[in-house]
Amino acid sequence: MNNCLFCKIINNEIPSEKVYSDEEIIAFKDINPQAPVHILVIPKKHIDGADVLEKEDAALAGRLLLTAARIAEQFHLSNGYRIVTNIGEHGGQTVRHLHFHLIGGEKLIDSF
Ligand code: AMP
Ligand code: ZN
Repeated sequence: MNNCLFCKIINNEIPSEKVYSDEEIIAFKDINPQAPVHILVIPKKHIDGADVLEKEDAALAGRLLLTAARIAEQFHLSNGYRIVTNIGEHGGQTVRHLHFHLIGGEKLIDSF
């Protein structure tokens, strides 16, 4: 059994406020936003994190970034924003399912 929180969100076993979905990717609002806009963009395929991306995942990884940028446009973040992915314990990754944070809507401080 896969006990991953984000896989449960993908499978609608845990509710989320989705803002985007396609065959490979979903995006939803972070439950604990660090800025006015804080969205998580994740692959439907379970990948632990950016550290274990394989060559075969290159197109998917690119699409995750592109999707984050398109969502930023939808949320009118034309003054700028941040896309972040945390990796492992020292990187502050608390959910071990690859995700890109899209953060914006105000001038961000240096550290996230
Ligand atoms: P990270 O610390 O980089 O692994 O990011 C995990 C993010 O998931 C955090 O910003 C959490 O606030 C967010 N999060 C945890 N549980 C949920 C949930 N049920 N729905 C939406 N976001 C969540
Ligand atoms: Zn997962």
